[in-house]
Amino acid sequence: MKSRPSFPAKLITSPPQKLVKPSSPLSWVAAGTAKQQSVVSSAASGLGLDSATVRSTMVKRLAEAGVDDELVLNAMLAVERHKFLDTALANQAYEDTSLPIGFGQTISKPNVVARMIELLRQGKNLRITGKLGRVLEIGTGCGYQAALLSHVSQEVYSIERIKGLYERARENIRPMRLGNLHLLFGDGMQGYPSGAPYAGIIAAAGGDNIPAEWIEQLADGGRLVAPMSVTKGSQSLVVIDKTSAGIQKTVLEPVNFVPLLSGVV
Ligand code: SAH
Repeated sequence: MKSRPSFPAKLITSPPQKLVKPSSPLSWVAAGTAKQQSVVSSAASGLGLDSATVRSTMVKRLAEAGVDDELVLNAMLAVERHKFLDTALANQAYEDTSLPIGFGQTISKPNVVARMIELLRQGKNLRITGKLGRVLEIGTGCGYQAALLSHVSQEVYSIERIKGLYERARENIRPMRLGNLHLLFGDGMQGYPSGAPYAGIIAAAGGDNIPAEWIEQLADGGRLVAPMSVTKGSQSLVVIDKTSAGIQKTVLEPVNFVPLLSGVV
């Protein structure tokens, strides 16, 4: 059993807060928390960390950095990143940094995660509810991004090739009761045909190309967001849109993800 950060237990917890959008899009604030926060801050002052407050600061920074999808910002506010990390790293959970999650893998920076989910949601396949339909994630890792995806999509399948991480993600996710999130153990190189077609496919690991199976499993109007080696030794974020007219590929900014590997361990 993985030990848990002890500080959240000392906090006064509140249900996921909704963001209110004030006059300026750059000044997102968590609604109705001022009183709670002062109580919580003093309770947690020994650790200098109050999960809800620090998270809303992180979300404010994300909004300032250009993330403006309300659903994404609300998901980042609701999902407790520190619960996906080892105790020793929990106090860094809301910094914009990638962190080790065991088995030689890392959880991506909040900024990169938010950016990728926002890109995924800018495809053409949003439901009337404003949510994505079915989404496939390749590389569950600790389950953080999968949990975020479950807030902005109707259904999420997330696949991980390392058994130990798959089990850890299940343990992390279980108490969160995310009924629309299905964690799978397997090689995501072939995608997951049983859940196809997908409105969105997102990969947290990068290879030399995008497997053809992923593109096959995208719905018409679906979008894929993944890191990929574009030149030797350098990775970029790639967006693929599938339409009845064909495939459109866009190469965006450089990124630094762990390698996409075949087989399971
Ligand atoms: N989204 C994750 C990031 C994990 S890092 C999080 O929030 O924690 C990327 C993950 O991709 C690693 O756990 C790695 O084991 C996994 N991975 C790499 N190749 C894979 C493959 N072919 N199928 C499934 N998972 C893969």
